Amino acid sequence: MPSERTLSIIKPDATRRNLTGRINALFEEKGLRIIAQKRLQLTQAQAEAFYAVHKARPFFKDLVTFMISGPVVAQVLEGENAVAKNREVMGATDPKKAEQGTIRALHAESIEANSVHGSDSAENAAQEIAFFFAGIDIVG
Ligand code: GDP
Repeated sequence: MPSERTLSIIKPDATRRNLTGRINALFEEKGLRIIAQKRLQLTQAQAEAFYAVHKARPFFKDLVTFMISGPVVAQVLEGENAVAKNREVMGATDPKKAEQGTIRALHAESIEANSVHGSDSAENAAQEIAFFFAGIDIVG
């Protein structure tokens, strides 16, 4: 299985509760390497652009408000099958449905404030990584 990259975001509910290190430990325990990372405050325009695919969803406005409610940590994760592996480590969108031991089962507050974002395909991962990082920022 070739090495793959995916975009992860530690969301404001998790940075607020000082969970960055604990979440990073879960990635690393599962064999995902953090090869780029930065903490930033998204603007409304940036959050709307990042989640443009969800524009028509009823929760879009709330989601954008949540994502700009505090700092986020954007990351590039690398490893075998990293897109699917990260989705597995994250758990289901709704923490009530997330498997035991996943980041969302352990840490999410709600279906919205669910602690982490992860790309859902290799194609989206490439786009989402380019949204946050230049090639020079990524050290694999
Ligand atoms: P993900 O790929 O598991 O993050 O889920 P989606 O792509 O379906 O949704 C993107 C994000 O929107 C989720 O991670 C949540 O933060 C938020 N979200 C999803 N579904 C709902 C919902 O029903 N209500 C609210 N308020 N937010 C939601």
